[in-house]
Amino acid sequence: MIYIFCAPSGSGKSTMVKHLLTKHPNLFELSISCTTRAPRGQEVHGREYYFITVEEFQNRIKNDDFIEYEQVYEGLYYGTLKEEIDRIEAAGRQVLFDVDVKGGINLKHILGDRATSIFICPPSIEELRRRLEGRGDTSPEMIEKRLAKAELELSYKPQFDRVVVNDDLNHAFEQLDAIIDEGRDLRR
Ligand code: ADP
Ligand code: 5GP
Repeated sequence: MIYIFCAPSGSGKSTMVKHLLTKHPNLFELSISCTTRAPRGQEVHGREYYFITVEEFQNRIKNDDFIEYEQVYEGLYYGTLKEEIDRIEAAGRQVLFDVDVKGGINLKHILGDRATSIFICPPSIEELRRRLEGRGDTSPEMIEKRLAKAELELSYKPQFDRVVVNDDLNHAFEQLDAIIDEGRDLRR
């Protein structure tokens, strides 16, 4: 089973993905996307993202290298490489995707029953702002852009297979663990 994680930025998607990767280091691996945005904080090329230029991104579109791609924010492109699924599955692991809401819905349509789409929901927009500000790595201008987009993204929640409300962190981990256990039981 492939797991697709989507949420408005700051809801805790990376925190959820990190939890699964730490708990099951040999079971899951995160697909690394291409992006045209600059690295933030401690991010490293080839670990969090493949950081590439707009020109390289356009070449990869022409080469049909992406399963899906989106202009997630004005002027900033993000795309999922087809070769990531092959790379991760060849290593005997299950793929995790951390993509924006539209990209997640597209991936689910393409992957069908091979994938479970999970929407990570913030307890409120106010809490979302607090988390984005608290993370301390996003400019005030980008925080406003992300919050403006969050309202629209929340309206897509019903299109997901599962919803995890990330209010209390441990409770959110429990909800996620139950979804993963369910997927493993189904395959037994
Ligand atoms: P996303 O990947 O969705 O943008 P992150 O996982 O980076 O979000 O989380 C945004 C910020 O909120 C981070 O600083 C993270 O530590 C914090 N955070 C995540 N989940 C919770 C929670 N349940 N309670 C409080 N803070 C949280
Ligand atoms: P950030 O800049 O905070 O790392 O990511 C911004 C948004 O882009 C997040 O919602 C993230 O999930 C999304 N994203 C990352 N990679 C991809 C991708 O390959 N495709 C799409 N559609 N969105 C992506």
